[in-house]
Amino acid sequence: MSNTPKKFALSKLSLSRLDGVDPQLVKVVKRAIEITQQDFLVVEGVRSKIQCYINYGKGRTAVQCTVKGVPALYAQPKLPRVTWLNNPLSSKHVTGKAVDLVPYPVDWNDLAKFDQVAKAVFAAAKELGVSIRWGADWDNDGNYREKGEYDSPHFEL
Ligand SMILES: [Zn+2]
Repeated sequence: MSNTPKKFALSKLSLSRLDGVDPQLVKVVKRAIEITQQDFLVVEGVRSKIQCYINYGKGRTAVQCTVKGVPALYAQPKLPRVTWLNNPLSSKHVTGKAVDLVPYPVDWNDLAKFDQVAKAVFAAAKELGVSIRWGADWDNDGNYREKGEYDSPHFEL
């Protein structure tokens, strides 16, 4: 039965995380789950300003935060840095034009599974005529995870 296509569906939690996301991107995600060979979860859609501040504060001092307009209370200099955005609020998640998808069952180290998810997302996007960028291939040159391309779960319009 190895040729039988696998059937997956978005969980209620994944669907709830698509609330407020750009309808074009929602369509792509919903089509991707129908055609993917690798199940996945939506871990983030729209990101609040507060969540951006929390992310920006990780790995930064109070001074580094305040110069960028992030309140000092979000500074957590001892934690590993999670974002390299120049403007803490410029993430496409803020405007609902990005989603983060991770393979299910979740294994952050199995990059081949992220590639499988990306394959489904790009196939769905092509079918629907939507143009998508992937965080593991920002310049869309087909060479994954070059310098600066470390965001394997991230897809944006
Ligand atoms: Zn993202």
